[in-house]
Amino acid sequence: MANIPRSHPRYRSLVTRAYLAHQMERGLLVPEGLIAQGRGEAFDYLFGERTTPVARKAERIAAARLMQARRPVLSVNGNVAALGARPVAALARAIPHLKVEVNLFHRTPRRAQLVEQALSEAGVHPVYGVHPTARLRGLASDRSWVDPEGILRADTVLVPLEDGDRAQALVQAGKTVISIDLNPFSRTTLAAHVPIVDELSRALRNIRAEALRLSRKGSVPVEPVPAEELRAQYVGFLLRRLQRFSVAHPP
Ligand code: ATP
Repeated sequence: MANIPRSHPRYRSLVTRAYLAHQMERGLLVPEGLIAQGRGEAFDYLFGERTTPVARKAERIAAARLMQARRPVLSVNGNVAALGARPVAALARAIPHLKVEVNLFHRTPRRAQLVEQALSEAGVHPVYGVHPTARLRGLASDRSWVDPEGILRADTVLVPLEDGDRAQALVQAGKTVISIDLNPFSRTTLAAHVPIVDELSRALRNIRAEALRLSRKGSVPVEPVPAEELRAQYVGFLLRRLQRFSVAHPP
């Protein structure tokens, strides 16, 4: 990978980019995954590259929903496997009945195997969806493949970096959909019951921390914040931040 000086102000972003480019070369990511990362970075920049108070609230709700679910599943694509295999494994340990399923927009046996490998090296066992045999209704192409023991039967699905059609198909199938997507306007964010607008690894870590906090407390209260309200609060946050930048230049 490229030699990036630690002193560079965008060090973390550059390291992540170099890492993802490397993962694309070895086949875990497709080129489209790099474009998706670029869009995510742009929104993260606008939000201040920190978890916002409203995202933290959504992450708390997500943790409660996952813990209350009878059959929760976390859906993993190439970007999620590359950037978040460890926090995915940690979340699966914090919520013991949480299943982890491979789900690829651009599916080949080799990619499915690479995602499985990244997940199992991080400590996820078993990995569902490597050889899926069921299909989700209302979706054409490889995106519709699901594991009959995983997403097909799930009541709650956590979908990081999902495409809008699939998120909508999961809602249509009667699942509670929790999304992680930095774009507050994406179709996925608009379709989700619990939209989390935050960076993938931050969101996964925060959901885990909330889940552990809730299990220590021994009860799982769900704050009933409607998805529309969360979405409005994300946009409100963004507007206020842009407003501040329009009159001054905070660092
Ligand atoms: P939609 O179909 O939901 O309208 P899309 O098809 O344009 O959106 P995709 O390219 O399928 O979007 O999904 C990528 C989404 O994931 C983008 O909205 C992007 O903002 C978001 N994203 C990319 N990287 C990250 C990341 N590291 N953390 C959180 N979100 C991310």
